[in-house]
Amino acid sequence: MTNKTKKRIAIFGSTGSIGTQALDVIAANPELFSAEVLTAMTNDALLIKQALAFQPAIVVIGDEKKYPIVKEALSGTDTQVYCGEKALQEVASMDVYDMMLAAIVGYAGLKPTLMAIEAGKAIALANKETLVVAGDIIIRKAMEFRVPIIPVDSEHSAIFQCLVGEGRNKIEKIILTASGGPFLGRKPNFLMNVKREHALQHPNWSMGAKITIDSATLMNKGLEVIEARWLFNLKPEQIQVVIHPQSIIHSMVQFEDGSIKAQMGLPDMKLPIQYAMAFPQRIPNTFPRYNFKQPNTLQFDEPDLKTFRNLALALEAMKQGGNMPCILNAANEIAVYAFLKNRIGFLDMTDVVEKTMQNVAHIAEPTLEDYFETDGEARTFADSLIQMY
Ligand code: NAD
Ligand code: MG
Repeated sequence: MTNKTKKRIAIFGSTGSIGTQALDVIAANPELFSAEVLTAMTNDALLIKQALAFQPAIVVIGDEKKYPIVKEALSGTDTQVYCGEKALQEVASMDVYDMMLAAIVGYAGLKPTLMAIEAGKAIALANKETLVVAGDIIIRKAMEFRVPIIPVDSEHSAIFQCLVGEGRNKIEKIILTASGGPFLGRKPNFLMNVKREHALQHPNWSMGAKITIDSATLMNKGLEVIEARWLFNLKPEQIQVVIHPQSIIHSMVQFEDGSIKAQMGLPDMKLPIQYAMAFPQRIPNTFPRYNFKQPNTLQFDEPDLKTFRNLALALEAMKQGGNMPCILNAANEIAVYAFLKNRIGFLDMTDVVEKTMQNVAHIAEPTLEDYFETDGEARTFADSLIQMY
């Protein structure tokens, strides 16, 4: 295969959990993929190491103070170095790649992803916050510019895989599975004393800090319900969350005849990452396989919405619609980082989100500008709450 037939990948957020695993997939399949853009916020050392190994056309370091270090380290190479938030957006529209792996964490991923869509790039979407904040606009733009958005989030990849070959067959509902996180079965009197170190231990997945906390509070599942709603064009009542502690069934689709399809496998993000990058092909790998010969039980249960109120708040935000999910997301980002800095307790995160939802003005049909403004307002309000703890 010549160089030209390789899919050129831009990894936005290459130094993160998803980004580094995506580079493992590229390294294992050099005849299929090349890494042409790599971006990082602060980790200059890892970004430099990645650039020397993969020789991308462009790297972007978000933190401008780190620019001279990265520039100097890559001076003997053909890689161009840029820095800052604006550069992330500019590079997203450049003609040096075919598919963006959107693996930046949080709201920061929204603008680069939008630019990529408007430049006609295919999107492998890990950054769920983009769809939570502005799902209506993102999906509309993707249709307008005829770009595929292929989910990387394991649950959404599962649903996407279940839908392959189903043509126009209607979905009755989808069943999103949730591991329940490290505090499954716990009650508020336990959760109020939880520290960052406990919350950062996830039983089944090793992930970045923000999503690990979101998994412990079940906010992650709430964000995923909203993500699913936009990706698969569903009504809120068509989405059910089921606790499945083993994380073997990654999610399910129930069709109009009552038949349920599930996608299964050991929990390993490399699988949905490589599926999104290679779609519609499947590519062989040597990842460990699930073993039916070993005794094992797959369990299913209802989520405890009274204890894990973040999930209830996300469902409420989805029902209210408009900019409410954007408000929820912004307040949650502020709350999670405050918890990670030991500024507020585990249950305080929920209070910050709830109060911010009650106080920032609801807009039923927001424009993109409205979303940007809402994000700023909600952050300011959530920050002011945190000052009071
Ligand atoms: P992470 O924290 O490990 O990595 C985040 C990446 O984004 C890093 O490369 C970092 O440099 C970059 N980044 C952070 N803030 C930035 C900013 N303000 N501007 C530009 N770049 C910035 O996160 P992760 O766990 O890899 O998650 C990435 C995204 O994928 C999240 O949206 C998460 O919800 C989603 N996701 C992750 C997993 C997982 O297993 N880690 C699974 C499903 C979905
Ligand atoms: Mg997920």
